[in-house]
Amino acid sequence: MIRFTKVSKQYPRGGPALEEVSFSLRRGEFAFLTGPSGAGKSTILKLVYVAERPSSGEVRVDGKSSVTLSRREIPRLRRRLGVVFQDFRLLEDRTAEQNVAFALEVTGTPQTQIGPKVARALTQVGLASKSTALPHELSGGEQQRVAIARALVNDPLVLLADEPTGNLDERSTRGIFQLLRDINASGTAVLMATHDLTLVRDAGFRTLELNRGRLVFDSAADDPGAQG
Ligand code: ADP
Ligand code: ADP
Repeated sequence: MIRFTKVSKQYPRGGPALEEVSFSLRRGEFAFLTGPSGAGKSTILKLVYVAERPSSGEVRVDGKSSVTLSRREIPRLRRRLGVVFQDFRLLEDRTAEQNVAFALEVTGTPQTQIGPKVARALTQVGLASKSTALPHELSGGEQQRVAIARALVNDPLVLLADEPTGNLDERSTRGIFQLLRDINASGTAVLMATHDLTLVRDAGFRTLELNRGRLVFDSAADDPGAQG
């Protein structure tokens, strides 16, 4: 479903951010992206949601190739991806349910479907009782749940998470990580960048480790099934 083939990325100003990175992620799979700050984790996620384009190599997402993808195809591809960030990126002047509804409004969902879909997504993340709260009335963990609900409401193929627990205390971190596991167990692939090695070690999921733009370890590298 996601396939990187010898992907390199060079930002206009700066050294190489990725060098010849190859891996693939199957439907329904969970994988961690690990490595120190600056290793290239965010860049990999940005290439998947087409916030950046590779300098060389190919990124395939849901059958679409970065080599041939036109600008007008990007919004449709992004609709099939859910993204969450370390800093939540919620609209501060809108309630939890308005933040989630926004993701449906921009994709042209019929008005009558928006209410039920928002309610379902907020229930899924355990926040049904706080649907009318503003972000500043919620804890960090709760704000991240809203962001996850927003990412899930369009039924994405994959949830991309960039350090989703980076701003959270240990207890909220465990709660958010359990939620991501539940989401994965219900069939959504998850690609999660993190430098929380305790989380990675205890979970036993596939791990892709980057260092200075190179993929230095893939725990599924010997598994032929992982190449699809
Ligand atoms: P990570 O997510 O692992 O911290 P990033 O993918 O953010 O790593 O960054 C990889 C490298 O690319 C770093 O050296 C970073 O400074 C550089 N980089 C990231 N974004 C940009 C950019 N927009 N312009 C120039 N360099 C960038
Ligand atoms: P994240 O890891 O959450 O993407 P970063 O702090 O790495 O956030 O980057 C924040 C923004 O700054 C991003 O748009 C990224 O592309 C850009 N950026 C990161 N590193 C550099 C850099 N060395 N030079 C220029 N822009 C950068």
